[in-house]
Amino acid sequence: MQVYYEKDADISLVKAMSVAVLGYGSQGHAHANNLRDSGVSEVRVGLRPGSGSAAKAEAAGFSVYEPAQAVSGADLVMVLAPDEVQPALYKDAIAAHLKEGGALAFAHGFNVHFGLIEARSDLDVIMIAPKGPGHTVRATYAAGGGVPSLIAIAQDASERARDIALSYAAAIGAGRAGIIQTTFREETETDLFGEQAVLCGGLAELAQAGFDTLVEAGYAPEMAYFECLHELKLIVDLMYEGGIANMWYSVSNTAEYGGLTRGKRIINDETRAEMKRILSEIQKGKFAHEFVGENLTGAPHMKAMRRILAEDPIEAVGERLRAMMPWIRESRLVDRSKN
Ligand code: NAD
Ligand code: MG
Repeated sequence: MQVYYEKDADISLVKAMSVAVLGYGSQGHAHANNLRDSGVSEVRVGLRPGSGSAAKAEAAGFSVYEPAQAVSGADLVMVLAPDEVQPALYKDAIAAHLKEGGALAFAHGFNVHFGLIEARSDLDVIMIAPKGPGHTVRATYAAGGGVPSLIAIAQDASERARDIALSYAAAIGAGRAGIIQTTFREETETDLFGEQAVLCGGLAELAQAGFDTLVEAGYAPEMAYFECLHELKLIVDLMYEGGIANMWYSVSNTAEYGGLTRGKRIINDETRAEMKRILSEIQKGKFAHEFVGENLTGAPHMKAMRRILAEDPIEAVGERLRAMMPWIRESRLVDRSKN
């Protein structure tokens, strides 16, 4: 598989463009700031009137417009509003306002792949999807690095859609880490699977289940928090830096033997079979259908699940313990007042 770097991209393409970034959340703030720091000639931010993000974007020095206004006159529109609002946003603010032959970009293939957005045929439809949270995309760029990104082309009206996608990817810093070309389908399915089974869903449940097991057995919640959540980062850092063997090398022989013999009882045949079912629900569009329905009814399950987690002891204990470790806060990625 070919991996592209800065030298393979012509960053001058996107630098000469007027780029409208719709949304100034996790990805939006990262793209807008990285593009501007890379010398893109105009970066405008599009937000709904009264959006809570407007003050953050203005404080960072961006001109903020209503979405349709931001789109008018832009050469490239990067859609970084939440996936569930994008179809309406396309219909109301993009379809009639993006210039003939413009480029329409996404950071996730969800709406295009599942047919929820059908873009005008004169447009380039591209994806630049960083393989990391938006806050990391910004922090890594600011530190001189970048987050690896996928690019994909759904529509190539200009016959230079790929060059534009590569150029954009380089301008947000991805060319420093590696850019891989994929398809909207492959990005969407693997991304949904990863976040559901491993990264967000799997990991959060693993940490909570471990915490609950220790607390229910009578151990102090503080001990359980340090063991099952805090230490996760140290382990993940070792894997990130040098792979799984690097982690086994660093931990004790006791941990290595115990982990190698017991880990397979946690992630067992049943877990693997469930992973396959989760992947199949994604591939068949069942998950997309469920998520669209959830949002049409005002996201009742999502709100209830957020409330339940907020009341979980692991959150309260964690907040108290982190307050005693101010250095965590000092180098934090998320500052809700700014990004
Ligand atoms: P977010 O929820 O953090 O931010 C959304 C932003 O859009 C906010 O500024 C919000 O005010 C604004 N917004 C909401 N409704 C709007 C509307 N109707 N018009 C204009 N702006 C509106 O979103 P996010 O997590 O950054 O996700 C944005 C896109 O990036 C999604 O397609 C997502 O799948 C993709 N993505 C996100 C991440 C991530 O790290 N969060 C990683 C890869 C890809
Ligand atoms: Mg992802």
